[in-house]
Amino acid sequence: MEAIENKVEEFEFVAEIKQLLDIIINSLYTHPEIFIRELISNSSDALHKIRFKRLTEPEILNPELELRIDITLDPENGIFRIEDTGIGMTKEEVITQIGTIAHSGTASFLKNLKEKQENIDLNLIGKFGVGFYSVFMVTDEVILETRSYLPSAKGVRWKSNGRDTYFIEEISRPNRGTLIYFKLKEEFKDFAKPEKVKEIIKKYSNFVDFPIFVNNEKVNTIEAIWRKKKEEISKKEIDDFYKFLTGDEKPPLAHLHLSVEGNVNFNALLFIPESPTPYYWRDFFDKTINLYSHKVFIQDDNPDILPEYLRFVRGVLDTDDFPLNISRETIQSSPLISKIRNVLTTKILNFLQELSENEKDKYSKFIHNFGQILKGGITIDSANKDKIINLLWYQSTFLKENEYTSLKDYISRMKEDQKSIFYVITDSRSSLNRNPNLEYFLKNNYEVLIMTDPIDALIVPLINEYDGKPLKSIDKVDTEITKRSETDAGKLEPEIANKLFDHMKKVLGDRVLNVQESNRLVESPVSLVAPYFGYDPQSEKIFKIIDKNYQVSKKILEVNTSHPLIKNLAKLLIENNVEHIVNNIIEQLYFQTLVLEGEISEPTEYVKKMNELLQEFTNKFLIS
Ligand code: ADP
Repeated sequence: MEAIENKVEEFEFVAEIKQLLDIIINSLYTHPEIFIRELISNSSDALHKIRFKRLTEPEILNPELELRIDITLDPENGIFRIEDTGIGMTKEEVITQIGTIAHSGTASFLKNLKEKQENIDLNLIGKFGVGFYSVFMVTDEVILETRSYLPSAKGVRWKSNGRDTYFIEEISRPNRGTLIYFKLKEEFKDFAKPEKVKEIIKKYSNFVDFPIFVNNEKVNTIEAIWRKKKEEISKKEIDDFYKFLTGDEKPPLAHLHLSVEGNVNFNALLFIPESPTPYYWRDFFDKTINLYSHKVFIQDDNPDILPEYLRFVRGVLDTDDFPLNISRETIQSSPLISKIRNVLTTKILNFLQELSENEKDKYSKFIHNFGQILKGGITIDSANKDKIINLLWYQSTFLKENEYTSLKDYISRMKEDQKSIFYVITDSRSSLNRNPNLEYFLKNNYEVLIMTDPIDALIVPLINEYDGKPLKSIDKVDTEITKRSETDAGKLEPEIANKLFDHMKKVLGDRVLNVQESNRLVESPVSLVAPYFGYDPQSEKIFKIIDKNYQVSKKILEVNTSHPLIKNLAKLLIENNVEHIVNNIIEQLYFQTLVLEGEISEPTEYVKKMNELLQEFTNKFLIS
C-alpha cells in the first residue's frame, strides 16, 4: 500500500457554481431522474477518452481494465453508487472541472438564466444538461472518488453538500476511474430500486457505447446500429437512437442511412430534426455529427464535417479509413474530413430534394424551421448553388399562411403573358396588407412570392433568374407593368398629369428621385418604388438593421392618375388658385408612403401640416 497523506482541504465553489447549485437545490425539478442520465453520460465520456488514450499513449494505469459502468444500488438504505473505469481525474482536474465552469453546457445554461433573469423555466436545467451538479436535486451530500489514468497520479476524494464549499483529500484507490456515491433524500429513495433505474437507463441511455451494469446485470444494448443493414433496423430503434443522440423528445422529421464505398468509405445515420433540437444553437458550430472510427467514438466536435448551411443535421458517422491509432489533432487537419464533407453535402442535398418531391408536408415543416439556414448555402457554396436554389420554397400570395412553393411549381402556375417571377420582401406576411405596390398583382391575378427571412434580401440578387425567368421585386420600377395599359381610360390626360408631376417634384424636391405615373396602383393614390437598379425598400430596411449607418436610397413616387383624389388634386392645381392647399396635400401623400413603409423619423412637421389642412376643410363646411 502506498503512503497516504490524509490531509483534508476545504475549497470554495466559484460564484457561478454557487448560483447554479442554489437553483438546482431549491427548485422542485420536474424530471429528477435525469441525474442518472447525466452521470452515465459523464462516465461514458470518460470511457471514450481512455479508449482513445489506450490507442495513442504508451503508459496508462491498468491498461487491461474492462471499460464499463457499474451502478450498485442499496434500496434499503437509499444508496446510489456509480463507478466507471474511465480516464479518471487528478486532484487538479477535480478542482478545475468540478469546482469551476469548465464546460459550455453549464456556461450557456447560466448565460440563458441571466438573460431571462426572472421566470426561470426549470425544465431548462435538463435541456442544457448541467451534468454532474444535477445529483444535488436528489441528495444532500455527494462523495466522488477518482484516480487518473496517469500512472503517477494518486487517488482523490471530493466531498460536498452542494452549498458553499467542497473538501478534497488524497486517498488510496487501486484502480483507474471514478466512483460517485450518495444517500438519496427520503422522497427520492425510489432511485435506489433496480427496476426503476433500469427503466430510466433504457429510456435515456440505451445507446451508450459501453456496458452498463445495475447490481451486476447488464442493461443496455451496445451496438453500432448505423452499421446494421437498413432492413434490420426498426423505426422505433431509429427514433430511440435519435432521441438518445439529441435529447429531442420528438422523433426526427426524416433520417438518412448511408453506406458509402469508393473514394471514401463510411457508414452514417443522419437525421433531420423536426424543429431545432434542445442544444441546437449551442451545438451549431461544431457538435453536429459524432465521428467514429472502426466503431470507436473519436469526437463529436469536428467543425469541418458539415458546411454551415447543413448544420441542422444530426447523426453519427463511422469510417474505417483512419488508421486505428489516429489522434484528434491528425483528424482535424486530415484531407479525409473534407472528402467526407463533400460526400455528405451531396447526399444530404439529394436527400432533401427527394423529400421535397415525395413528402411535401414534411418538407414544408423543414423549410419553415431550417430554410433560413439552408439559404445561407447560396452565398458560400457556388458549386452546389443550383441544387440549393431548387430546394428553396417560399410562401406566396396564392397559398395559405405557412404553405410553401418551389420556384419550379411557381413557374408552372405563371400566367401566359407573364415573363418574370414576382416577389416581395417583407418582415412578415401580415405587414404585406399595407403594401400598395401589391394591388396590381392581386387584381390581375399574378402570383407573388413572399420572402420573410432577412437573408432573402442578400440571396435574391445571387439567384437572379430561375429557368430563364428573372426574379422581380414588386417594389421596384418595372417596364413589364409600368407601360400604359388597357386601364388608360380613367386616367388623367398625359398633359395634365405631367403638369401635376412637375409640380409634385418641385414640392418634394430631393426627397424623391422622380415622380411618375403608376400602372400598379389600384386603390392607393401614390406609392414609393425603387429604381430598377436599386434595392427594394424592404431589403434596405434589413440593411439598415445590419448596418445602422446604411443610407436608404431615394425612391420614385408613383402616382395613380385614375384615383379621384389625384384627379381632384390636378384640378385644384390647374383650375383653382389654392397652391398652399395643393402643396400641403402633396406633403400628406408623401407622408402616407413613409408611414406605410414604417420610415417616419420626424412626424411633427407632417402632423402640423395635416392640422392646417383639417382646419381649412372644417372652415369650408362651417355654416356661418
Ligand atoms: P460536462 O460533463 O457537461 O462537461 P459536468 O459538470 O457533468 O459537465 O462535468 C464537468 C467535468 O468533470 C467533465 O467535463 C469532466 O471533465 C469531469 N468529469 C465528470 N464526471 C467524470 C467522470 N465520471 N470521469 C472523469 N471525469 C469526469
